[in-house]
Amino acid sequence: MRVEGEWNRGHSGRRPIMDRLLEKVAVRVTGCWEWVATRSPEGYARIGLGRANVLYGHRVTFEHYVGTIPKGFHVDHLCRNRRCVNPLHLQAVTPGENLRRGWEHKNGGRQCARGHAFTPENAMQPPSKSRSCRTCHNLRRRARRLGVSVDELIEIDRERQANV
Ligand SMILES: [Zn+2]
Ligand SMILES: [Zn+2]
Repeated sequence: MRVEGEWNRGHSGRRPIMDRLLEKVAVRVTGCWEWVATRSPEGYARIGLGRANVLYGHRVTFEHYVGTIPKGFHVDHLCRNRRCVNPLHLQAVTPGENLRRGWEHKNGGRQCARGHAFTPENAMQPPSKSRSCRTCHNLRRRARRLGVSVDELIEIDRERQANV
């Protein structure tokens, strides 16, 4: 039996990839071009190009409408919707910046609860949200070693700095 569907009209790759891609997109009120076909385990749009070549949909639209993705760069979803392939919602960023923005979104701000900025240097690897601030992580480690609370340690540091 032959399955009906656009992908059955010919071997994939014969029709322009953008034609095939845009047919699998649903435009949402948010402006997101939401991918309605196969997705990667992380939730990103996936589109086949030929037999073994599978691409991320958002990288395809970015390169088509915006331009070449610099080597080593990630394409970040400004809308935080991983299914989205709208080039206006995408931006090429360094992996560190991409990570930082993810935390910013998760934590609802540009800094941790203690006010340390989520810079690429200060933002730690997921998955643990509570450990996402490197400064706090180091504070907790030092406090544990000294047998004091983090607040006490901050107070100690402050006094020490004032006495220099
Ligand atoms: Zn979007
Ligand atoms: Zn912190």
